[in-house]
Amino acid sequence: MASSRSGLLPKLQLTSEQVRKLRKEARDKYPVEACALLFGRLIKEKAVVTKIVIAPNTLQSMARFEIDPQLVFDSFEQAEQEGLEFVGLFHSHPAPYNPSVIDIRFMRLWGDAVWLILSSTDDSVAAFQMVKGKARRIRIDVE
Ligand SMILES: [Zn+2]
Repeated sequence: MASSRSGLLPKLQLTSEQVRKLRKEARDKYPVEACALLFGRLIKEKAVVTKIVIAPNTLQSMARFEIDPQLVFDSFEQAEQEGLEFVGLFHSHPAPYNPSVIDIRFMRLWGDAVWLILSSTDDSVAAFQMVKGKARRIRIDVE
């Protein structure tokens, strides 16, 4: 599922419009965790998000999220047809953006995926990537 890249990505690039969209989704779903799949292009180790697929949190939980596997499958197929790569996952926390213990466990399963987490407490966002078993924070550029 993860692409062939390996190692830490220097940065994640988003547009201000995309950030607005994710903040709105987080607000609309609050206090349930909002989630989305991020697709785009990997250019010189920079992940550029070009497509966001908003996904319902099937757990309707304030502490964790789950995306319907069929939606994940369909979204991956669609993105592949569009020539896009899977960049990572977005979800919100009604708490600080640090990955939870459960997040870390799932991050290990998702390989190189970037985890973009929004804190609904102050609308801040942070991106993380699992590198050698540890969640490392990566830079976000908003254009
Ligand atoms: Zn989380």
